Amino acid sequence: MRVCTAFCRLLDLPGVWVRSVRFEPDRVVVTVALRRRCLQCPKCSYSTRDRENKQHHDSVWRGLDLGRWRLEVHARLRRLRCPVHGVHVEGVPFARDGARFTGDFENLVAWLATKTDKTATCRLARIDWKTVGRIIERVGEDLLPEERLKDLFEISIDEVAWRKGQKYLTLIGDHRRGRVVWGCDGKGKAAADEFFAELDPPPSEPREPAREPAAREPRYPPEPGIMVPFGPCPTVPAGAGVVGAWLQAGVEIEPALFARASKLRAVSMDMTGGYAASVRAHAPQATIVIDNYHVVALATKALDEVRREYWNELRQAGDQHASKQFKDSRWALLKNPEDLTERQATTLAALHAAGGKVPRAWSMKEMVRAIFAPDLSVQTVSELIDRLLARLSRSRLKPFIRLGRTIRKHRQGILAARRLNLSNARAEALNNKVKLIVRRAYGFHSANAALTLVHLTCGLVTPKLPHEQAFA
Ligand SMILES: [Zn+2]
Repeated sequence: MRVCTAFCRLLDLPGVWVRSVRFEPDRVVVTVALRRRCLQCPKCSYSTRDRENKQHHDSVWRGLDLGRWRLEVHARLRRLRCPVHGVHVEGVPFARDGARFTGDFENLVAWLATKTDKTATCRLARIDWKTVGRIIERVGEDLLPEERLKDLFEISIDEVAWRKGQKYLTLIGDHRRGRVVWGCDGKGKAAADEFFAELDPPPSEPREPAREPAAREPRYPPEPGIMVPFGPCPTVPAGAGVVGAWLQAGVEIEPALFARASKLRAVSMDMTGGYAASVRAHAPQATIVIDNYHVVALATKALDEVRREYWNELRQAGDQHASKQFKDSRWALLKNPEDLTERQATTLAALHAAGGKVPRAWSMKEMVRAIFAPDLSVQTVSELIDRLLARLSRSRLKPFIRLGRTIRKHRQGILAARRLNLSNARAEALNNKVKLIVRRAYGFHSANAALTLVHLTCGLVTPKLPHEQAFA
């Protein structure tokens, strides 16, 4: 077998044949030529036989390593004029538009970035983290399903800090699928409004065609509360929304325009209020639910405030030894008691024995956690909240009095979580995973790259390795 034939089989790059192979000290250079005569626009499906000019464009891509060798793919390309996109260097079937890497290489990097940490990915792929961010964006654009926002009934909306400083991503999760379905740069009411605008696109944008009634049986049958989604949504103008309807097989009616916002049954969120305002405006029928873990997080924060205050008092009183010891007790106090190490458990017991305001604050935090124990009835939870509120208001600890006020204000939302039985453990697990991934994405160049990494790890699709999925 000739060397070129062997490399052609080995690299398996679609649409090309290998002209030459050259070994350099640190790399293998493979020169390829396109099989097709036509020139293909890199941005769309337009193709033509006409070259724009005689000019050549020599391009280089990095391919999957061959053993220890770095692989470079070289090709000489031509220019074309696309009626839509103008003059461009022709696209190649083995790499994405604008990429300096082959599709296989990018698929591998995307898989690594979703599975392992920054250092391992960079070292294995021999590229820097910003480049990983750009690869993630390109892979995401290929993979993310177009129709991500259909069949949403119970969703969560939450923000996550992205980079240091006041930068945030807002993410929409689907409670039923336990996945992130949408995200944007920014937070608060504006971000939620952006979501609703995309949920029910204005008529100027191309709308999906009317669906075949029989082919579209909903995965979950619509429930009584959402059997009438055809009514207009107060903020969706006439003509906007999505064409479609819940139809039984064989039933024919005119396809109706309906606002997908009007199908939402519940929206869960934290207690800051910005998202609630947007939901009340766009989906007034949806119940606003407070995610339990946000309430527990607030209680933990209040406890931490009391702890810090006490520590400062000890320091000011000049008790160096006690203040040092007390500083180390932070995790013993803040962690869930069932997760404590033996040493932390001992520390906690010692704190209780010492008495004072910190153990008192701790027991109130645990009281908040107890409200969200599984298998309690709505009635029981309601009674527990009453007891908790009474205790908090008498606590004489400012952070906890404040916490009591917040809980009182959001009581309906907290009870709604229990009544609708939205899986809190799953929502919290998703939230924790998102936080971890966003921290990994801190070094990326753009919020979009961070968002895409979230979609690829916690969203509806996951990247596949080159051998699992041939690059299309
Ligand atoms: Zn084009």
